[in-house]
Amino acid sequence: MLDFVTALWLGFIGACVGSFLNVVAYRMPRGMSVVWKPSHCPNCGHAIRPRDNVPVLGWLWLRGRCRDCGQPISPRYAIVEAAMGAAFLLLAYRELFTAGTNLPGGPFADVASALDTVWNPNWIVIRIYAYHAIVLSALMAMALIDQDRERVPLKLSVTSLILAFFCAWQWRHLYFERAPGFFRIPEIKAPVDAVLGAAWAAAPWIIAAGYWRLRNQQSSERLINLAWAAAVVGAFVGLRASVRITALWLIAYIVYRLIIRKNNSVSPLVLLWLATLTHLVFWKTFASLLTCYTHNRGTPRGAPLRWRGWQTHTHYPAGA
Ligand SMILES: [Zn+2]
Repeated sequence: MLDFVTALWLGFIGACVGSFLNVVAYRMPRGMSVVWKPSHCPNCGHAIRPRDNVPVLGWLWLRGRCRDCGQPISPRYAIVEAAMGAAFLLLAYRELFTAGTNLPGGPFADVASALDTVWNPNWIVIRIYAYHAIVLSALMAMALIDQDRERVPLKLSVTSLILAFFCAWQWRHLYFERAPGFFRIPEIKAPVDAVLGAAWAAAPWIIAAGYWRLRNQQSSERLINLAWAAAVVGAFVGLRASVRITALWLIAYIVYRLIIRKNNSVSPLVLLWLATLTHLVFWKTFASLLTCYTHNRGTPRGAPLRWRGWQTHTHYPAGA
């Protein structure tokens, strides 16, 4: 019961974040202030009443029309709010209440429920959950901007990247798959993982954008948007997860283009958001599927890699 109420509460926060991201995606490319003006109807300019501004429900009880001018309001607003709410709720059950059972090396506590991790705060687990909530939020904002065929503002992408590098430096336990023995200094393993994740994820799109520019003498905003978004995800999850998310994205993209829609109406960044959420929810499963050759911790440098079976991954105890 406590789990359910807490999850609903976090889901509601997620829906409010989604509501805010709608505002960010509308205002940022237009150079408007994100925080200082209350929401208004884009058609008639009337301010939206607080009771109609409730995420998802507001759109439902207005039946998708503005109260003042009767013009239809795009269902996209409600869909984004619902998606963010669902993501926060899902991650709460999978990650927050279980103390990270979905993560390599997890769970990070012996007993786990909302009581143990939220109401008697386990800050490591809360930090991990918040970190993943932030990357999903930043990515959704970028996806909405790309969906509108606008350029993702540098303010948004660079701030997200800097935040990821800062957190990697500050809280190593946010990175679960730091390469063992890659650099011998434990302090810089997480930041290096973040940098490698960002570089790996963005590289193909930067190369593609460069190639496009050389051939057609024009820049490709969509590819540059994709490069920034992939870099942000890579920086938040690290190298190995970033490789797997790219693979998931590729599968989603092929399925979407070949089976669902031939034309390009959904932004590839929306698919990246879905791939990232899927990977967060099933992180440990994906990690154990693909990490079969790996060192134990403390194996001397230069020792041959050994087959460790399908179920193994690099373990880092919480706080290490
Ligand atoms: Zn209106």
